[in-house]
Amino acid sequence: MQERQTKQKQIIYDALKTLDHPTATEVYGYLHESYPSVSRATVFRVLGGFAAGGKALELRAAGDETRYDYNVMPHYHARCLQCGKVADVEATGVPTEALAITADHGFSVEGYSVEFFGKCPTCQKKS
Ligand SMILES: [Zn+2]
Ligand SMILES: [Zn+2]
Repeated sequence: MQERQTKQKQIIYDALKTLDHPTATEVYGYLHESYPSVSRATVFRVLGGFAAGGKALELRAAGDETRYDYNVMPHYHARCLQCGKVADVEATGVPTEALAITADHGFSVEGYSVEFFGKCPTCQKKS
């Protein structure tokens, strides 16, 4: 049992790396054909576990299913408002001014994310 769980985790992690910022549903859809024994519930649970354990980032956005990112190094994102695609932006840097203001509001900050949104190249071509 333990061994099977470890194998399933590895399969799901590999899918997370192959697919670009996928949702749990996308990971499940991707794996379903080759690994019918991996259930939808398992995919959700394992991805949630990766996020809780610091092996993946959770990208939440209103109106979109939570996406997962195996790249846990600080980086920014660009999100397409039309198709939902999320791309990495190779930029880092804590917005220290905003961080200080947040602290002034009494929040203890545990992380931050920077996201640009607009249209991806494919969607720009379509319109
Ligand atoms: Zn798009
Ligand atoms: Zn990313």
